[in-house]
Amino acid sequence: MRILAIEDEERLLGILSRSLKAEGFSVDGAGTAQEGLEQIKLSHYDLVILDLQLPDGSGTSLLRQIRQQQRKMPVLVLTARGDIESKVENFEAGADDYLTKPFALAELTIRVQALLRRGPLIQENVLKVDNLELNRLTRQVRRGGKRIELSPKEYSLLEYLFLHTGRTLSRSMIVERIWDQSFEGLTNIVDVYIGHLRHKVDEGFDTKLIRTVRGLGYSLDPHSKS
Ligand code: CA
Repeated sequence: MRILAIEDEERLLGILSRSLKAEGFSVDGAGTAQEGLEQIKLSHYDLVILDLQLPDGSGTSLLRQIRQQQRKMPVLVLTARGDIESKVENFEAGADDYLTKPFALAELTIRVQALLRRGPLIQENVLKVDNLELNRLTRQVRRGGKRIELSPKEYSLLEYLFLHTGRTLSRSMIVERIWDQSFEGLTNIVDVYIGHLRHKVDEGFDTKLIRTVRGLGYSLDPHSKS
């Protein structure tokens, strides 16, 4: 299990890392919000420990950025502020737990273990990429606030792309997930359905969100150019 601790107080970061490593976790540290964000982009972490007062900005806005990028690992917030407004604000920004400084290392360890037992959280029901929105409860899709009607297969395909935003999904992965094994070899059905989705989701918008990754497959990508 890999943990990233974003904390600018070096002494505290050192103590934190040592005690979590002693519990068998591998721990990376970051001293600024910028450094933390970069490490999250580069590596996979199972959990993030986040201090709220960082030299280059607030941990809360970093938390919002992490969640906007669809990163769903649990985040445990550390702060000197224990007031209810601050707690509510951070839970709304996507925090999973909260620990007020000063805290006992034993409590930190227990909370970290409890969060990791829950596994990766996919609690958001409304997924967003750029101005495209997918509601997993109502199965409704909107772009720029306007409702888009999709067939059940088109919806499943789009949801699958959403759940792996920014990653390339091969045609065979898509076929296996959305259709079934009997479609093996008929991967051009994917191209047909991607065509339908593009027509409904991207047509008329400057930013094309469904991207063809040549020779590999497709991805839902807010920075798409194709
Ligand atoms: Ca701090």
